[in-house]
Amino acid sequence: MTTTIDPQFLDETIRILQDYIRIDTTNPPGNETKAAVYLGDILKKEGFDPLIEESAPGRANLIATLKGKGTAKPIVLLNHMDVVPAEAEKWTVPPFSGEIRDGYVYGRGTIDMKGMGVLELMALIYLKRKGIVPNQDLIFLAVADEETGGVMGAKWVLDHHPELLDIQGVINEGGGGVIHEGKRWYEVSTSQKVICQTQFTVTGEGGHASVPKKDSAVTTLIEALNRLKNYTFPYKLIPTVKEYFHRVAPLQKEAWQPIFADMEGAIARGDPILEEIMEDPGYRSMTHDTAAITVLKAGEKVNVVPTEAKARVDCRLVPGTSPEAFLDELRRIVDLPNVNIQATFTGVDNPPSSHDSPLFHAIERAVEQHDPGCVVTPHLVPGATDSRYFRAAGIDCYDFIPFRMTMEEHMLIHGIDERISIENMKFGVEMMIDILLNLQG
Ligand SMILES: [Zn+2]
Repeated sequence: MTTTIDPQFLDETIRILQDYIRIDTTNPPGNETKAAVYLGDILKKEGFDPLIEESAPGRANLIATLKGKGTAKPIVLLNHMDVVPAEAEKWTVPPFSGEIRDGYVYGRGTIDMKGMGVLELMALIYLKRKGIVPNQDLIFLAVADEETGGVMGAKWVLDHHPELLDIQGVINEGGGGVIHEGKRWYEVSTSQKVICQTQFTVTGEGGHASVPKKDSAVTTLIEALNRLKNYTFPYKLIPTVKEYFHRVAPLQKEAWQPIFADMEGAIARGDPILEEIMEDPGYRSMTHDTAAITVLKAGEKVNVVPTEAKARVDCRLVPGTSPEAFLDELRRIVDLPNVNIQATFTGVDNPPSSHDSPLFHAIERAVEQHDPGCVVTPHLVPGATDSRYFRAAGIDCYDFIPFRMTMEEHMLIHGIDERISIENMKFGVEMMIDILLNLQG
């Protein structure tokens, strides 16, 4: 059975989203407690018993459970209540108005990720109203602080509620339906790159710029960065990504199809078409460690040779690469004795989640119900979500927002005029309900 919600339930869903958007949870500072109280009141009215706990004043997290029979391990429906700042003057409508225009709800967080939070909320309410007792506890977990790293949110909650790691899986933001160049497919992010931010520091002799020496801190740094820029990182094809290319192969132009279908073979024989494919930064990031030079600092005055030059390089590693080994690789690439390379921040490594689990198959089936014949694929994403805290503990996490959006709509995340169509909210609630129902078979 494929779920269709009635117009009244959709109206309720949209109203809740609008009111939720109107609660300004810009992080920093967050102020998620107001949002948690709002969601908590809705849940209480429906007969849930939500627990709201603050990690710091104003920084609440909320846990609410639809009790199951206990014949399967719980599933966590994860979402974050905080949003990134919005430059109100650039928006068509005030970013915290929740205004509806041309079939879209506008507002900061409509996609990232209050919209998804509402899908999870409404799916649980739907099941509860129908009197469905699921096989497993379904745990709605709304957290603070995702946008600045999750220390006061997901990480804090897991430190204080280790029972939330005794579960079978997590559904969270990220991934979803992609509409592009007349084609449509669904990406379930089962893995993410690991952040490794670094600093390059060079010290040298200073002096007057009228009598420069051949080498200085600045020229050495330039040389180091040039070696990095010209270096080609080797391919690293993890099973998730191999499967991704295989599943999306039929969507590619003909010449690319055999390469996508057997990426491992193509890499092994160094197929020349790979170069063309890897011009796409998305494909490149899925198959390589990357290093982006982002910050340069040296000197204050034009006539003074500075004694220090610094660069910051943001690196994203394929899961399974240790930051220590990667730093050694950077030092080998640069190969200059007076360039000091250190990590300034490294993320948690997170083993990719299985694409052969009941929850992954429940998502696949729900897509087949609502968008028959579409490709569903596991995916490695370059960005980070709170899923990494669960994955680090070995829990399968599926970052999947059941919206179908064009590339332009995807670009609205963290952008101007972020908005989600009412049609997508309907589609999303129905698919979320069916993901949960598919787990009851
Ligand atoms: Zn988000």
